[in-house]
Amino acid sequence: MPISFYQARQQILDTVPTLAIETVPLLDAAGRAIAEDIVASQSLPAFNNSAMDGYAVHVEDCIPGTVLPVVGYLPAGETASSPVKLGTVVRVMTGAPIPAGADAVIPFEDCKEEEDQITILRLVKKGDHIRWAGEDIRPGDQIISAGTLLRPAEISLLASLRLATVSVRRRARVAILATGDELQEMDEPHFSGGIVNSNSPSLAAAVREIGATPITLGIARDNLPDLREKIKQGLQADVLVTSAGVSAGDRDLVREVLEEFGMREIFWKIKIKPGHPTAFGMHDNTPVFSLPGNPVSTLLTFEEFVRPALLKMMGHHSVLRTLYRATLSEPLKKKPGRLQILRVALQINQDGELIVSSAGDQNTGILRTLVNAQGIALLAAERDFFAAGEKIDVHLFGASTVLGY
Ligand code: AMP
Ligand code: MG
Repeated sequence: MPISFYQARQQILDTVPTLAIETVPLLDAAGRAIAEDIVASQSLPAFNNSAMDGYAVHVEDCIPGTVLPVVGYLPAGETASSPVKLGTVVRVMTGAPIPAGADAVIPFEDCKEEEDQITILRLVKKGDHIRWAGEDIRPGDQIISAGTLLRPAEISLLASLRLATVSVRRRARVAILATGDELQEMDEPHFSGGIVNSNSPSLAAAVREIGATPITLGIARDNLPDLREKIKQGLQADVLVTSAGVSAGDRDLVREVLEEFGMREIFWKIKIKPGHPTAFGMHDNTPVFSLPGNPVSTLLTFEEFVRPALLKMMGHHSVLRTLYRATLSEPLKKKPGRLQILRVALQINQDGELIVSSAGDQNTGILRTLVNAQGIALLAAERDFFAAGEKIDVHLFGASTVLGY
């Protein structure tokens, strides 16, 4: 019995295991999910410092018109050896520690600079242009929680706290197996009726995009011995993804061989379009995804089912893409019964609203529509019509840009 899109995704996420934790240098952790909660062990900034190039002053000296002598100079990276005396100022550069005694910084542009003295031009308030120790982060603050994706911002914070290594979950090693007698690799000479294996490179790219490691196993022919040999190899990986050979019309050799190896099938067939014959099972601790062979179906089912599974395995707490409400600019028709994974074009209109339309011919044979799409709308299984102006949920593909900003 085919199951619903949402049941299928939930069963997958409930089933896949999480991978082991390893400690890696900070930069190797970028783009991965951190596996530990980070509690700050020190203050940021570590010391009071100047936010501007200017003069460290005593606020009580700074009545506009007052002339004050400059008695010292502090670049960033140097510490004053003595406090600033009342009635004097010290020239400080951005980032320089505030010398003791001073309680504000007056920027160059707010005073008149002459030889060894300045004239105050504006009122100064206590604390002006000082970055106080701990105003950003205090010791004991819980700053990053386990499962967070480490973006450059988090890397900056971790580096500031001198965390040269962090723990993350292992990158999933994902075996990719194309199947089909008609297939040939792109660098092999063309034969009549041959179809280039584009699924292996596209799946490998999709795997790599989320920080997992693809292992391409090439092409298995539609016969039991070849499938057995390659599937056996694939089951050594953390995850096996196959393409083709699972459609209802096929001899279902992929599923047959997986079952021979003792895979526990969790479902076969989802009430979706495209991607209907997708199968999922577990071989010991190895999730196995059998995706349909049509290149558009392969990538869309990867996007909606395999990608979240891999992120979960690698310890991400957020595994689904953000949904945005978008306004349909055109009516859409579909057959009821299956959820449609619609490739959509997105645009921001003059009022700043997110506008969605079909990215083109939704036939699964049309790869160009996937190339032209910025994202996906999931059209509810039971519906058959969506009116122009209706709001629907969409999600973007990773690196897509939306026109109109
Ligand atoms: P199947 O799922 O075996 O019925 O295949 C569906 C369609 O996808 C057929 O037109 C296949 O030739 C095509 N196809 C299957 N595998 C691949 C692949 N690895 N790369 C490109 N096209 C494929
Ligand atoms: Mg086939």
